[in-house]
Amino acid sequence: MDTFTKQFSEYAKSVGCDLLGIAPIERFKGIKPENHPSSIFPEAKSVIVVGKRITRGSLRGVEEGTQFNTYHLYGYTWLEDRFLSVTSLKLAEYLEDNKWEAVPMFNLPTEISPMGIPVRPGNPPPNVLVDFDDAAVRAGLGEIGYLRTFVSPEFGARQRFFMILTDAPLTPTPVSTENICDRSSEFQKYCPLGAIDSSKEEVMEIAGKKMKVASIDFRKCCECKNGAVANRRHPSGSPDRLAAVCMRSYMVHLEKKGNLKNRFANPFRTRPAWEVLTDRTIIEAGSDIE
Ligand code: SF4
Repeated sequence: MDTFTKQFSEYAKSVGCDLLGIAPIERFKGIKPENHPSSIFPEAKSVIVVGKRITRGSLRGVEEGTQFNTYHLYGYTWLEDRFLSVTSLKLAEYLEDNKWEAVPMFNLPTEISPMGIPVRPGNPPPNVLVDFDDAAVRAGLGEIGYLRTFVSPEFGARQRFFMILTDAPLTPTPVSTENICDRSSEFQKYCPLGAIDSSKEEVMEIAGKKMKVASIDFRKCCECKNGAVANRRHPSGSPDRLAAVCMRSYMVHLEKKGNLKNRFANPFRTRPAWEVLTDRTIIEAGSDIE
């Protein structure tokens, strides 16, 4: 790693960055212009993915079914809009203090349709939206897990990302070769609504990394009352599932297997998880402890 990238990484830690991955722009070869970082900053040499953890305790109130605001603020809205945005801006400022241009990017769903027309021939229409989970894989931070969420070796699915495009030629982070998710078809039992279908698996490939994932019926997730939250940026975006019972059960599994580096003195789940099957069903203790 070159000296500037090392100094930049150390600064990132000092301003609250938990995960930092750097992809050279060449790793985005094959991405269509509508989603390509170069469409936003044609001179970009590096794509920096900045991650901040969702603390495990932010999920506690949802796990107990007694306090949902804590996750909503510390795991979602404040985490993105306050803590992660400040960290990312500081990193962008650091780059610009060192003569490199830095474009801070917020995580918007790629499902949003274009909102304008191309301003010149050959340009994609605005707004170009980059897939942050895809970029995090390209930036070496982890993989797409079986349940189609990004997972890191540090926190599993418990993190959120911002991105910075820069013309700084930083030392790239290698694409991860770790297997964090054990991709068991048994994970489909984590959804009480039957949204996870292991009989329809597919293989995603990002930057040469192949990852088997289950099919998920996101229409059911949009109706899910088990800790899922509608996408707050756009109704066409996938719902936020990171606090839903499926992902909490998945986290319990990964922790029990010892697959995550962020370890705790006590297990997360000590009582059966609550589940709501429909709008009308009353809460019942459904999931087994694992
Ligand atoms: S968010 Fe809800 S419906 Fe979707 S997979 Fe998870 S538990 Fe099932």
